[in-house]
Amino acid sequence: MMTRKENSILVMSGCLTERYKEELQADMPEIDIFTGVGDYEKIDQLIATKQSTFSPEVYLATETSGRVITGSTYHAYIKIAEGCNQACSFCAIPSFKGKLHSRSLSSILKEVQNLVAQGFYDFSFISQDSSSYGRDMKLSDGLIDLIKGVEALEGVDSARILYLYPSTTTFALIDAISDSPVFQTYYDMPIQHIDSPILKIMKRGFGEKKTIELLAYMKSKPNAFIRTSLIAGHPGENEPSFEKLCDFMEAFEFDRFNTFQYSNEETTSAYTLKQVDQEDIERRAQILGEIAEKNTLTSLENMVGETVTLVIDGESDEHEYLLTARPLRWAVDIDGEILVNDTSDLSVEYGKRYEAKITELAGTQLLATLISAI
Ligand code: SF4
Repeated sequence: MMTRKENSILVMSGCLTERYKEELQADMPEIDIFTGVGDYEKIDQLIATKQSTFSPEVYLATETSGRVITGSTYHAYIKIAEGCNQACSFCAIPSFKGKLHSRSLSSILKEVQNLVAQGFYDFSFISQDSSSYGRDMKLSDGLIDLIKGVEALEGVDSARILYLYPSTTTFALIDAISDSPVFQTYYDMPIQHIDSPILKIMKRGFGEKKTIELLAYMKSKPNAFIRTSLIAGHPGENEPSFEKLCDFMEAFEFDRFNTFQYSNEETTSAYTLKQVDQEDIERRAQILGEIAEKNTLTSLENMVGETVTLVIDGESDEHEYLLTARPLRWAVDIDGEILVNDTSDLSVEYGKRYEAKITELAGTQLLATLISAI
């Protein structure tokens, strides 16, 4: 049994507490303070007064938020909006995060500048639906404006955008990303499915044809890295629609994709629909997982022989003589690592960039040799 440190204060915050505030407060009297997703700035005050608070306002980070960035000395996530105007059948997020609230472009750019001054040079811009950025502020191409604004800042060497939504992703946006001297040609667009009847039940806005048009356009871009995510076993998915999805995923060869087993969430429109058997959900997710492994392997094989810019993050867990590195094109933590097994006698500094040659795929692990420091 865990013992509680004397005078400690236990705080529970985030999406779960926001969503189930009454139930959790009733069930967990050992928690001193409950708070949701709107009161991050008030945490000192909450601790001082030992009061639970659930602010109804949407919390948007600002350039003066005084963030403490952990886990990296050179990469930072930048939240560009909160909430979402989409109505996906399976998703509860809008019910507790609310409608889309975009940060002002100037606030985002100031935060990036502040972080550049602290030595950060690689940024991931993130929100629930990043391709809708600025629509609540009547900007028609808000994300393109953001890309141009970031490009104009000194000291940003690399950036990527996480989570494009199909029906708000334009061809002009795909071009702006691929043409950018700063942004990686990195497209993370969760498609969830490919079969039109299922996409309609999911209320995703686009059917198969338009989704494939976007993906094919992304794939036509040199060095494009394309990631997506899927849901296995959404209500309405039968064996033919699942097989169609598998055939598409085999053929398109995404660089990476994740599959989530459908989870029936209260307050969503899919909640009352006839559910797929749990056994089928698990089997389908397993099959998609195997296709994802094959896709990833092909993507890794295609990199052998390439020269890439990578960042060395530290010593590898595999072996003390190996270094763990990430090509700047990949997103942090989710796309994997490359092991450097030959430093060419260059002096190695963690968090610094190097040109490196990918020499070999050993099993599922890429190996690289450093060429020069950047
Ligand atoms: S899945 Fe994403 S785009 Fe759809 S409602 Fe949820 S947050 Fe919005």
